[in-house]
Amino acid sequence: MLKGKVAVVTGSTSGIGLGCARALAEAGCKVVLNGRKMNDEAEELLKTIPAETGSEVMFGAADMAEAGEIRSMIGDVVKKWGGVDILINNAGIQHVSPIDEFPEEKWDQVLAINLTSAFHTTKAALPGMKKKGWGRIINIASAHGLVASAYKSAYVAAKHGIVGLTKVTALEVAEMGITANAICPGYVWTPLVEKQLPDQMKAHKMSEQDVIRNVLLANQPNKKFATTAEMGALAVFLSSDAAASITGTSIPVDGGWVAH
Ligand code: NAD
Repeated sequence: MLKGKVAVVTGSTSGIGLGCARALAEAGCKVVLNGRKMNDEAEELLKTIPAETGSEVMFGAADMAEAGEIRSMIGDVVKKWGGVDILINNAGIQHVSPIDEFPEEKWDQVLAINLTSAFHTTKAALPGMKKKGWGRIINIASAHGLVASAYKSAYVAAKHGIVGLTKVTALEVAEMGITANAICPGYVWTPLVEKQLPDQMKAHKMSEQDVIRNVLLANQPNKKFATTAEMGALAVFLSSDAAASITGTSIPVDGGWVAH
């Protein structure tokens, strides 16, 4: 369906990014996996994804907190594969703490990786998309791009920010065959969620099971974690020609969370 399109997925060696990368490779895209550095996990994926899907995969090393590394990664993709057709801004981190105890360097890091990186990737990828008259930008925001939760000030601010960036991007390129949309997952079971359990237990003074049911899934009416495959399937649909008129939107995939 997307045969030969070049897709860059930031932060794609695990979780939702990996789900999107796999789904795009299955749909026929050449896929750029991204992480800070090449490691054993990435090396394994460079073998398994092509073997499972028949699609080409390359690794683009870049720390999403570093503008220069982002620019040179996109430059390498343009040199090797002629441009970026589909850009999925997925890399993200979380930090859970009350605002008055929130470490300043953590605030800066969350904003850099979860928001500013998408500005840099979009800025670097757009000229090629404009030349081709075709492009897809998909920002992995969050239900926290639409509503807030306590103790996640930097994350909620960054995710609301990326929803805004998505709308601006969509407006600027609306007549050029390029769409920009945000996917807003509720809770998806990934390492990012698993890693925040200890801090959530501390902040809420609860056991792990109570945090899962009463904090994480408290607002998710279907009481189920979504899957990374569901996120990948939506990214493939948004990349397809069938979604050509969908732009500037933020699509919740959250079991009913933001319907509250
Ligand atoms: P994850 O921790 O499995 O994946 C995050 C990825 O980002 C990892 O591959 C990590 O290596 C990468 N990354 C982190 N810092 C990076 C950096 N500086 N440079 C390059 N890569 C970096 O988490 P996930 O749950 O798959 O999260 C992916 C995205 O989805 C994030 O933006 C997150 O905010 C968003 N999200 C997740 C959930 C959820 O429930 N899991 C819900 C809503 C939104």
